[in-house]
Amino acid sequence: MTAKFLSLTDSEYAIFISQLKQANERLNAFNFIDENKKSGKIISVKDNICVKGMPATASSKILQGYMPGFNATAVQRLENSGFSVIGKTNMDEFGFGSFGLNSEHPAKNPFNEEYVAGGSSSGSAVATALIKEHVSIAESTGGSISAPAAFCGVVGLTPTYGAISRYGLIDYASSLDKIGFIGKSADNLRDVMEKTVGSDPKDTTSLSNVISNKNPHKLYVIDNLVENIDESIKDRFEDLLAKLSAKDYEIEHVNVDYLEYSVPAYYILSMSEASTNLAKYQGFKYGFKVKDFSLNYNEFFMSARKQFGKEAKRRVILGTFIRSKSIKQRYYEKALAIRHAIIARMKKFLNDGFIIMPSMPIFTPKISEVSDISPVEAYSMDMLTVPPNLCGFPHMSFPYFYEKGMPLGAQIITDHFNDYSLLDFLSEWESGFKYKFKEEIG
Ligand code: GLN
Repeated sequence: MTAKFLSLTDSEYAIFISQLKQANERLNAFNFIDENKKSGKIISVKDNICVKGMPATASSKILQGYMPGFNATAVQRLENSGFSVIGKTNMDEFGFGSFGLNSEHPAKNPFNEEYVAGGSSSGSAVATALIKEHVSIAESTGGSISAPAAFCGVVGLTPTYGAISRYGLIDYASSLDKIGFIGKSADNLRDVMEKTVGSDPKDTTSLSNVISNKNPHKLYVIDNLVENIDESIKDRFEDLLAKLSAKDYEIEHVNVDYLEYSVPAYYILSMSEASTNLAKYQGFKYGFKVKDFSLNYNEFFMSARKQFGKEAKRRVILGTFIRSKSIKQRYYEKALAIRHAIIARMKKFLNDGFIIMPSMPIFTPKISEVSDISPVEAYSMDMLTVPPNLCGFPHMSFPYFYEKGMPLGAQIITDHFNDYSLLDFLSEWESGFKYKFKEEIG
């Protein structure tokens, strides 16, 4: 197989757009669809990544009306290689969420509309499930590519931190944010990865092109992590391990210290960074503008910043508290130490193997089931996606099972810079696994 993307003639394009708009009314995959005829291979882009001449809202009211006049580097590189952006995909506001529900019109699961699509890259996963041969450019801070990919039965690839330039990304937590991809085939993902990866003078944290390729046939299972997930997910995961060991993968069970602190450490660091990154939204420069200059200082900024949704407000308040001088040793500095301890401990196993685990600890929940859970319960659902993200390790969620018509995803993790080995693994997996993608437009 080679990379293959949807590319349409003029007459096909009109039909495609009308089908897409119809599907979008049901599933809310897109915040914006560009109806102008596109020449080239069609991709979509998460709404926190800038595309010249298209709105970029990150699903936030505070960015309503913002229209960037430039492309993110990843978008520019793909446009230079003959790709065209069809629209901007729905997401949790600024990337804050795991279910896609922190958006005014939440995206719905393409397999069953009563279920969540996952988040925060909800729309990118739904668009990929819906559109033939599709790849969506997405972003992950703590699991926003793996989670929706798992719930929507598609593949989510999160590269090494810094492998793809973050220029043009509306930042959430800069030391954790990574641009990546949601797609359906190893060949398509490899193609977009090859075309976007590599250093960029506009992002000083971006890395050079050199990506090594160890190809291990050993899989480590972290028992002290997997023991905390739903029993039925555990059973399915055991079946997956049996299948892989029949395919000559050696499975080894291990324990990794400190992983129980990864979710708190992640939320402490990500909220701290988010609270500073969101400080620039004050009603002056981007999107929502406060026009009433008769307001006093507090009233002026309050009328801008009350545009933030509930979860964004929570994170700005908590993040600001955590960073305060008298508190920061107690939380922020400890979280940094935990992050380094976990990197060292996980890296040891990635020398000669992949780490494998389910992507999410629960079956895809119904929208009604998660609408009222507490923030802490919601954050704990990231227990499997947070560790690789906290460490900047490249990882990939791939569909491996369908239960009662809904897909399940597993996640494999590899060492820094070894991104392509994930796609080699996927190619092998594809050759023995029959994918059932939802429905295909195009
Ligand atoms: N669910 C995580 C959070 O809310 C991850 C989000 C993301 O990766 N953008 O922070």
